[in-house]
Amino acid sequence: MATAKVLAGARVVLPTGTVTDGRVIVDGTRIAGSAPADAETLDLSGHWVVPGFVDMHNHGGGGASFTSGTVDEILKGIHTHRLHGTTTIVPSFVTGDMDFLVQRAGLLSELAEQGEIAGIHFEGPFISPCRKGAHDETLLRDPDPADVRKLIDAARGRAKMVTLATELPGGIDSVRLLAEHGVIAAIGHTDATYEQTVEAIDAGATVATHLFNAMPGLGHRAPGPIAALLEDERITVELINDGTHLHPAALELAFHHKGADRVAFITDAMDAAGFGDGRYMLGPMEVEVKDSVARLVEGGSIAGSTLTLDRAFKRGVTVDGLPVDDVVRAISANPARLLGVYDTVGSLEPGKDADLVVLDEEFEVKGVMRKGEWLVAP
Ligand SMILES: [Zn+2]
Repeated sequence: MATAKVLAGARVVLPTGTVTDGRVIVDGTRIAGSAPADAETLDLSGHWVVPGFVDMHNHGGGGASFTSGTVDEILKGIHTHRLHGTTTIVPSFVTGDMDFLVQRAGLLSELAEQGEIAGIHFEGPFISPCRKGAHDETLLRDPDPADVRKLIDAARGRAKMVTLATELPGGIDSVRLLAEHGVIAAIGHTDATYEQTVEAIDAGATVATHLFNAMPGLGHRAPGPIAALLEDERITVELINDGTHLHPAALELAFHHKGADRVAFITDAMDAAGFGDGRYMLGPMEVEVKDSVARLVEGGSIAGSTLTLDRAFKRGVTVDGLPVDDVVRAISANPARLLGVYDTVGSLEPGKDADLVVLDEEFEVKGVMRKGEWLVAP
């Protein structure tokens, strides 16, 4: 029986704000409200303690692909991201053949049952050929609700999010179907107009898949999806804060319009995250990673990122100048709420899982705890 721990002396970020010289009590796998007499105290002065990060859009890491890897490889990829502070993860599939996706969804639903992942995100195949990014065009298809249903069923209740180009035939009916099943309908890889985007939001879409990336830009006569997604408070926008996918002013624009409660930092990471430069496969597409930027070998499209959420956190504070509390909302609380897991993770409150990250003054990771166990010991 592990002794209870008191993490003391740190700046602790709570839902109500940051407490200096705060305490987090860990008893077993959970955060506790009070410490038993025999608890051991760990002095973390000079550090921050923040909730574990929640990544709702991530294709791989540590050399492993969530779309095509073996179970062992997937677990290795998950572990790589955990070492960078991501204690809750939703693996994302890139576009694949329907039978392949059905089979992979079955495999990952088992990992969800074991508590390794918080669900599954299908980024394709229901996306626009005009905005396909790093997805294989030959495998794209219109969002026929029957096909959407097939993927949800294959995930056995573990489908969390489906990204779709809602302007395609069947798009609006598919959004309704997803909303009815409690699966997030995410607007993305889309060529929709402003009006078509509003229609999709009214039908129940609640997330913008990596806002700004893989969608038309903001035009004064044709404001497109970005204006609709920014102005509607029913939408939370994903942001890839790696300095490559977004100009800092674009990130600022998103925070300004959405407020800190309607943004979610994601990695959109591929296999090279936490691993290194080289040649990789993203689904069926070959990718070259050079200087940590992933691009398709053919055509040169940006092909996911090599980001880990600790870098997105540090960049948010040190480059973007965001308050730490706002970064914590974007990286933990908001995605946890969207995924429906905020009752167990996403903030440091008694009764929740003891998932937390210890950062030093430079916002480098010094400790990672998941369910009360140190994965990186401070
Ligand atoms: Zn992605």
